[in-house]
Amino acid sequence: MSAIDDLPPLREVIARHGLMPKKSLGQNFLFDLNLTSRIARASGPLDGVTVVEVGPGPGGLTRALLANGAARVVAVERDQRCLPALAEIAAYYPGRLTVIEGDALEVDLRPHLGDGPARIVANLPYNVATPLLTGWLTSDPWPPWFQSLTLMFQKEVAQRIVAAPAADAFGRLGVLAGWRTQARIAFDVGPGAFVPPPKVTSSVVHLIPRAAPLPASVRMLERVTAAAFGQRRKMIRQSLKGLGRDPAALIAAAGLDPTVRAEELPIEAFCTLARLFEAGV
Ligand code: SAM
Repeated sequence: MSAIDDLPPLREVIARHGLMPKKSLGQNFLFDLNLTSRIARASGPLDGVTVVEVGPGPGGLTRALLANGAARVVAVERDQRCLPALAEIAAYYPGRLTVIEGDALEVDLRPHLGDGPARIVANLPYNVATPLLTGWLTSDPWPPWFQSLTLMFQKEVAQRIVAAPAADAFGRLGVLAGWRTQARIAFDVGPGAFVPPPKVTSSVVHLIPRAAPLPASVRMLERVTAAAFGQRRKMIRQSLKGLGRDPAALIAAAGLDPTVRAEELPIEAFCTLARLFEAGV
């Protein structure tokens, strides 16, 4: 495959800017621009789209997003050392790359986005990957401001995100993701694709927001799933005591078998429980 742009190879960029990867920042860089292009393409059509990227680092995925047609990339990066390398990409693609220095858990990028369609694409730092996803999945109003999320996780986390009821990996994250999105694993990425290689395999997960998820409040759903999965091997007549009330009436009103376990319940059942619990049942 021919080069995706005329910028220098990433290994050279890293060496020139002294970007020794830091474990504390979850820095596992991707150097292979064919792979970063594959991630960009997995996010869907990018023409006219503003992409939000968390943690561009030396810019491998950023370059792929821009080369694959994103109208703009708005990126948030915590590591100041990466900013000069990203400035070179911004100069190569005038007006199309905005880099905000900061912590993705705290910075609100929406004021930088404009009115057009937006997608989120990132090779996430593993130490904050789950809180970032949970933040996006619990945002209100819904449908949200983004058309899709295309995110790299450790494979074990990816499996929890896409898990269906009764699967071993099904838990709170699977309920939240399945409630508000259609989520699937796009492809796996072996450790050797990263510098330095992580210990485990990674997966790119693609999530598309549901236009009309079943009604339930995020807060109540989180309380119900925290109680139910807090004791995931116990029957719900026991585990739901964690809600602070006798759950018998709640379980009966929801039409559920009190002897099932949380991991056996469909997502609709959690939504029903959340609605009834909020109503004081
Ligand atoms: N996108 C680059 C790539 O694919 O090669 C780097 C990905 S690396 C897994 C994660 C990046 O996120 C690093 O550049 C790291 O500095 C950055 N990062 C870590 N914690 C962050 C945070 N809280 N907010 C924003 N960026 C963060």
